[in-house]
Amino acid sequence: MQQFDYIIVGQGIAGSLLGYQLLKADRRVLILNDESIPTSSAVAGGIFNPITGKNLDKTWLADSIFPYFKDFYLSLENETHCHFYHETNLYRPYANEQQRRHFLQLTDEYDLDTYIRLVKPDAYKEVENHLGGLFTTSAGWVDVPLMIGVLRKLFIQSNAYHNERFDYQALEISEEKVIYKNFQASKIIFCEGYYASQNPYFNWLPFNPAKGETLIATMQTYSIKEIVNQGAWIIPLGNQQYRFGSTYVWNQLDWQTTKESKETITSKIDKFLKTPYQITEQQAGIRPTTKDRRPFMGNHPAYPNVYVFNGLGTKGVSLAPYFAEHMLYFLEKEKDLMPESNIQRFYSLYSL
Ligand SMILES: Cc1cc2nc3c(=O)[nH]c(=O)nc-3n(C[C@H](O)[C@H](O)[C@H](O)COP(=O)(O)OP(=O)(O)OC[C@H]3O[C@@H](n4cnc5c(N)ncnc54)[C@H](O)[C@@H]3O)c2cc1C
Repeated sequence: MQQFDYIIVGQGIAGSLLGYQLLKADRRVLILNDESIPTSSAVAGGIFNPITGKNLDKTWLADSIFPYFKDFYLSLENETHCHFYHETNLYRPYANEQQRRHFLQLTDEYDLDTYIRLVKPDAYKEVENHLGGLFTTSAGWVDVPLMIGVLRKLFIQSNAYHNERFDYQALEISEEKVIYKNFQASKIIFCEGYYASQNPYFNWLPFNPAKGETLIATMQTYSIKEIVNQGAWIIPLGNQQYRFGSTYVWNQLDWQTTKESKETITSKIDKFLKTPYQITEQQAGIRPTTKDRRPFMGNHPAYPNVYVFNGLGTKGVSLAPYFAEHMLYFLEKEKDLMPESNIQRFYSLYSL
């Protein structure tokens, strides 16, 4: 029987960053991950943006999590010699006069100077922006598949990784340990994203999964380095490649791409993009979003050594580094979780 401190199920962004934190803390870790199934992390735009939505809402905990993940990703880049963290302004050209007035009123009312800069009309020729717009600063994107790939190599080198589908029926839980096939560990943490719906230990948690699709496009004559967002976004990936996104669908939860989603995205893009493009790829994923839009972290109400780290929703890139560290401290019994992220808030939904 091989001994570990922790077994982690799933190596999306949640399992990857938690596994990394635990290895850094010199814990013996085994990650079991099924590489044959589609994942949310593989298709994520990877955008981080402190100010979002129609009302320029500040992202939850932005003042803490943004400085935290910046340091985290830069230091991980350094360690792995891999460039996946891209800081860039996010440009929001005003869609119409009404939106311009609304945004200007909001920037006056709230102290958004740290995160917002106004942009004069017609700053760019490739997009419709005759009314001007605004930049949200401290924004950017992470190449999530690249980062996960480089972490997988690190886990393999550390003998901490198996490519296999976890079979819930084969898990044996006792008070002081868990046994899975020929592996024994003190604790097990489930990080399966949307697939938690198939997990008998945590399928009672109130997820509100949202399917989303993105497109990959090529453009020869587009040179904007910022992310542009006006109802749909364009991320410059490099080498004349761009990601367009995204859609939100709550009622057809499968991993298939659809013609409707492609049309939804391109019709929004066509409203402001003035440059010709060619779609080369379409991808679909299911976001592990939660009803109260807060992560699902903590231990199972009946099995104290069975844990979950999930529910990163639409903001995996911003939330995962900060909360992976919280999870580490919680697992090591050094600190409690934030009540807003602790699944204790839903224990009343659990029945044996
Ligand atoms: C279209 C789209 C656009 C998005 N854009 C952004 C964005 O711009 N910015 C942002 O921050 N977030 C974005 N997201 C959200 C982001 O993708 C998620 O927050 C994040 O990827 C969730 O990561 P996860 O590790 O929880 O889940 P996943 O990435 O789904 O990973 C789960 C892992 O568990 C494994 N697994 C599941 N079940 C088993 C099993 N039984 N045995 C073994 N392994 C198993 C899977 O193989 C997978 O590797 C987007 C999502 C979508 C769909």
